[in-house]
Amino acid sequence: MLEEAVSEQFDLIVIGGGVTGAGIALDASLRGIKTLLLEKEDFASGTSSKSTKLIHGGLRYLKQFEIGLVRESGLERSVAHKNIPHLVHPENMLLPIVKGGTFGKLSASLAISVYDFLAAVPREDKKKSLNKNQTIASEPLLKKERLKAGIIYSEYRTDDARLTIELIKAAYRSGAQIFNYMLVEDFVYDSQNKIIGVKAKDISSEQNFSFNATQVVSAAGPWVDELREINLSKKGKRLHLTKGVHIVVPFDKLPIKSSIYFDSNDGRMLFAIPRNKTTYIGTSDTNYTGNKNEVKCTQEDVSYILSNVNNMFSIPPLTLADVSSSWAGLRPLIHEDGKSPSELSRSDEIFISESNLISIAGGKLTGYRKMAKRIVDLLQKRNANFSQIECKTKNYKIHLNSFADYQDYLQFKNALASKFELNIEQTKELEYLCSCYGKSAEQIINQALNTKNDFARSLIKAEINHVLKYESAIHPLDYIIRRSGKLFFDIDAVQKHLSFIIQEFGNYYSWNTGQVQNATLECESAIVDATIS
Ligand code: FAD
Repeated sequence: MLEEAVSEQFDLIVIGGGVTGAGIALDASLRGIKTLLLEKEDFASGTSSKSTKLIHGGLRYLKQFEIGLVRESGLERSVAHKNIPHLVHPENMLLPIVKGGTFGKLSASLAISVYDFLAAVPREDKKKSLNKNQTIASEPLLKKERLKAGIIYSEYRTDDARLTIELIKAAYRSGAQIFNYMLVEDFVYDSQNKIIGVKAKDISSEQNFSFNATQVVSAAGPWVDELREINLSKKGKRLHLTKGVHIVVPFDKLPIKSSIYFDSNDGRMLFAIPRNKTTYIGTSDTNYTGNKNEVKCTQEDVSYILSNVNNMFSIPPLTLADVSSSWAGLRPLIHEDGKSPSELSRSDEIFISESNLISIAGGKLTGYRKMAKRIVDLLQKRNANFSQIECKTKNYKIHLNSFADYQDYLQFKNALASKFELNIEQTKELEYLCSCYGKSAEQIINQALNTKNDFARSLIKAEINHVLKYESAIHPLDYIIRRSGKLFFDIDAVQKHLSFIIQEFGNYYSWNTGQVQNATLECESAIVDATIS
């Protein structure tokens, strides 16, 4: 495939396989634009696997009068829910109104009414106001002393990395060529100093390649300014990176009934979200100037989140020892003089250099489709010879046609559960596979259940087989973090099956002992980072 790609003349090269780049590659290839996407590590290895994993309008941005952003992401929520139903699920969010909190009863009610209106939320899903007793009944773990009332409103939840990978796969099916572990190091220019391609290095083989295209778009997230520097076009506006961390605790340490959007001690707002056998909580928002490839959750970050949780919930106080996993990511925001991290706009921005490099940064996971549309519309305007087909992503379905279809689809796992006499925990594992892999889960589950091995190991084996064959997983961490999310939400399984996972990768790629040892060290170090041990 690489040999073919180097001799090809592409219309478009997209740098970056996060949600923004993946969205652009899908939109462009659906319109018949010949597209190549290059990602320096794994797909979604940047910010797109480190978010709060919500498809949301961002209630808090209303306070900053970012009406356009809230409206766009609010409306996009239902588009994502309709188009990728196995990955975008409705989620009720409880906002407790507390003494001294960000929102008073009236302001919260007004803000969420505006939020529902901007996002055209259907009547049955509109906000429900609760008095103090109803709020306590809805979430008995909230501390009663500060509580005044509560509001339940609608949001959606997702898996950010899986969303990105599904978009990557859809772009590939639509004709895009796509490579992970391919670092773009420089640009190729013509005699008028206009970009006509990129120079890249295959990280696995260390081989260098040159790719040709009429147009290059950088969707490199936190690395956008690095590429603008290489292009000598970092003038005017620049990125402002802020770090956000999340911690994960076993569900029984914070057994909340639904997701909660609650006040921190410093005027910010945090989420606590139950997920499978865990609850995760985040996020912080602090300036970041360190190494972009090694963003870590520190003990200080953890203390910030723990003290806020302990302040809001009536539970035996959580400590560092209760943290089972964590992740830290960078927001690629646009710098504005004098503004604190939380005050910076979350809107996206497009930069166009004199040599024709188009860069896009900022924005939200939720708004990826609209960001992609803006970029591809712009490309068509600037290149009359590009296919001029209109955007097709608004109704482009991935895996299933609706959420009702997804719920019907889940029935097959119940039939299998009774046929193979699976217990509740085992049946939940099948559901997890359906929500991760959509229609492909059927193949994974059938392969697993038709072997006589231990149940958990058979599932892992079949899942790894799938990500190796169909999802360009190159390293065990690609599976553990981005394909399955297990490092965050099922770290016990990772620790228990680690050598088996590495062995499966080693067998597939015929690794020697040194390569197996390196993979083991990489995974062990990722576990140490996630557990902050
Ligand atoms: P990235 O995901 O960082 O992708 C850029 C990619 O470019 C990377 O994979 C990188 O490896 C690659 N790259 C860089 N340089 C090169 C190169 N030279 N060659 C090849 N490839 C290169 N949004 C929401 O909608 N909902 C949320 O709940 C939410 N929560 C968030 C919580 C936190 C803590 C953070 C940090 C962000 C959150 N966001 C949320 C925002 C959202 O995650 C980001 O807007 C989005 O993921 C950015 O995607 P991206 O593709 O632009 O960047």
